[in-house]
Amino acid sequence: MSDGLRMAVLIKQVPDTSSATGVNPDGTVDRARAKKMINPFDKFALQKAIEVRNARGGEIFVISMGPPPAIAVLHEALEYGADKGYLLGDRRLAASDTLATAYALYKAVLYLKDIDIIFTGLQTTDGDTAQTGPQIAERMGVPQISYCETMEIEGKTVKATRIIDGGVQRLEVEMPVLITVANSAVKLEHKRFANVYKTKQALRDKDALADKIFTVDLDEVEADATRVGLVGSPTVVGKTWKIGEKGGSCKVFKGAAPKHEVELLVDEISKDERGVMEFVL
Ligand SMILES: Cc1cc2nc3c(=O)[nH]c(=O)nc-3n(C[C@H](O)[C@H](O)[C@H](O)COP(=O)(O)OP(=O)(O)OC[C@H]3O[C@@H](n4cnc5c(N)ncnc54)[C@H](O)[C@@H]3O)c2cc1C
Repeated sequence: MSDGLRMAVLIKQVPDTSSATGVNPDGTVDRARAKKMINPFDKFALQKAIEVRNARGGEIFVISMGPPPAIAVLHEALEYGADKGYLLGDRRLAASDTLATAYALYKAVLYLKDIDIIFTGLQTTDGDTAQTGPQIAERMGVPQISYCETMEIEGKTVKATRIIDGGVQRLEVEMPVLITVANSAVKLEHKRFANVYKTKQALRDKDALADKIFTVDLDEVEADATRVGLVGSPTVVGKTWKIGEKGGSCKVFKGAAPKHEVELLVDEISKDERGVMEFVL
């Protein structure tokens, strides 16, 4: 076992929303047909964990809960630089809401033992609730730093800033801790170069990566099967429907120069009865 920090990064496979396929006639996502990808927010969580490991040493375990194809996101995470991947896959997990999902993932984190930091993305691009991370922290009884923008580690103390309305909040907490990573926590150059890094790593040892990925079921993580799936999910979806297109109008401001066009726009906005600020927002 490494002397450094033991970190878990939670990564979800989501439908690739840029692809045109994968929508049922009733407007719901056809998960089986849709192209899949790593939840983009989770790449930032992984990048943060890699930065911490580079500075402090340790190991990064990525966990994904999902059906067998979700193993692809674990592969990708290892290509980026994670150390080991765990797919929490079990048919009994189907139809889990966020309460059940957070319970199952909490059990998977416990299974890995002595995790110091759990990183999650801010939210997903499909469910988009941002509830999973905070619910896991609550279940584990550990502090959480949501919307974390900066973090420093001294021993087992994490000093962090998190984004709040109108500013930032400074926090100092002891590990273990759960951190949901804000997009702005990751330096722009890392966002740009992530793919280059990934390619290099992938070329180096593609086959070896497969030996570092494990599939575990509910029994192995000692989860209670009555607390997941349909039976463990109190959420009831009343109705889903397609959002209709708004038939808005568009006005083009043409002037002699950009400055003049901006003046015309400001003039127009000023006339709006909702006021300039509300119009702009
Ligand atoms: C009644 C109901 C039934 C559902 N049935 C299904 C179903 O059959 N199949 C299905 O795929 N979804 C199903 N869902 C959706 C599923 O509950 C959510 O996708 C899941 O709870 C995560 O919520 P979220 O997408 O809002 O994630 P958020 O809370 O927005 O995610 C925050 C972060 O948590 C982590 N995270 C979230 N989910 C996972 C995961 N699965 N693995 C690893 N890390 C994760 C990531 O780091 C992510 O960035 C159902 C939801 C409801 C309400």
